Amino acid sequence: MPERLGPPLAKPLFERIALVGLGLIGSSIARATRHLNLAGNIVAIDRSEEVAARVRELRIADEATTDLLAGVRDADLVILCVPVGVCGVVAEAMRAGLKPGCIVSDVGSVKASVIAQVQPHLPQGVHFVPAHPVAGTEHSGPDSGFATLFHNRWCILTPPDGTDEQAIERVRAFWSAMGSNVEIMSAQHHDLVLAITSHVPHLIAYNIVGTAADLETVTQSEVIKFSAGGFRDFTRIAASDPTMWRDIFLHNKEAVLEMLGRLNEDIALLARAIRWGEGDKLFDLFTRTRAIRRGIISSGQETPEPDFGRRREDKA
Ligand code: NAP
Repeated sequence: MPERLGPPLAKPLFERIALVGLGLIGSSIARATRHLNLAGNIVAIDRSEEVAARVRELRIADEATTDLLAGVRDADLVILCVPVGVCGVVAEAMRAGLKPGCIVSDVGSVKASVIAQVQPHLPQGVHFVPAHPVAGTEHSGPDSGFATLFHNRWCILTPPDGTDEQAIERVRAFWSAMGSNVEIMSAQHHDLVLAITSHVPHLIAYNIVGTAADLETVTQSEVIKFSAGGFRDFTRIAASDPTMWRDIFLHNKEAVLEMLGRLNEDIALLARAIRWGEGDKLFDLFTRTRAIRRGIISSGQETPEPDFGRRREDKA
């Protein structure tokens, strides 16, 4: 069933919001904000004039500029939607334009590093509420976004200790209005959880697709021809944005290495079970993993059909 957004709010939650980086996530926020009337004014800021021009054509913001300082001026919510490796540089560059009382947030897939990069650059009186919408596709750029991307998905907020409660509630209300289920946790816990649920699975996909491409005994055409055997599903993940994922691994180093250590041990056990013909061990594991898949479907985070949440007709 295609998901639908609710009706627009009678009164916007923010007067002026500035989105920095109009890729998949930034442009999806712009579309949802516009559709749901979450802000009186939407300013799109991108370093590329080409992207700013495309945003104007798509009419998903009220203004589109490459001027970061002018763009964030007078905004009461600024959301960084750029790769996690550049959040600090962008925060430093926009600092002088932030008005007192403004809320700064982000959407980065790693939280402790983003907090460490951004917080030192924010002036007194500006509130920082880091966020991570656990929603996405393998596509990038302003054309790839859609307003329902965050609907029925989790958005994790990781406010540092002492963050203004009202600011947290305003950011929570913003994501709830876009249809997300909001949860609050520490940045460290977020990074550990996402290492196993998102980061390591991406690393495995990059690895398996790379290995298959390098095999000398299997030709490229066979890899493509017989991809429906399981490989195809990995290639979708392995098509994700290289800059974004390079930054995620470099900025969540400890948690990813910790989870990879566990994974290596478990893979060694599986190899042993195969070598010694221990079918019961394999069967028990595959039964448990099948139950996890069913649990994900019954919790509404996936449907049995392939390509859930990524069909063009779902776009609003
Ligand atoms: P995207 O489609 O590639 O968009 C990235 C945006 O960041 C583009 O506007 C890009 O500008 C800008 N940017 C890149 N490098 C920059 C730099 N050095 N300085 C200033 N701006 C720069 O990526 P995305 O998928 O929207 O991801 C954005 C953020 O969302 C990342 O932090 C990612 O971790 C997080 N996130 C992604 C997903 C997902 O599935 N994709 C899900 C949840 C969270 P140009 O247009 O000039 O390249």
